[in-house]
Amino acid sequence: MYHTPAHKQPIPKPARDPFFDPMVRTVNRNLVKYAAGSAIFCPFCSEIMDAKRTVVLSAGSITKVVCARCWDTNLKPLIKPETLARCEVLDGRVLWSKKG
Ligand SMILES: [Zn+2]
Repeated sequence: MYHTPAHKQPIPKPARDPFFDPMVRTVNRNLVKYAAGSAIFCPFCSEIMDAKRTVVLSAGSITKVVCARCWDTNLKPLIKPETLARCEVLDGRVLWSKKG
């Protein structure tokens, strides 16, 4: 049986992080914009929401929208890392960052 020599086999493309896919990024940005606009105020500190400083936490059908400051100080430290790994976190600061 004939086998393709190793040097002639196609080079597999490196796995692409879907987070930085332009379309996924646009969809996630609009999702965070919508969530921030719907919430208007942060439920913890009553600060007016800004999409670029908003964090959307989703776990199954439950969604929580908080400002980035409350996420860093109040909410994230309370969640166990293994629980956080099962949640989807959309951080406006990351979505609107320059890189990617
Ligand atoms: Zn807040």
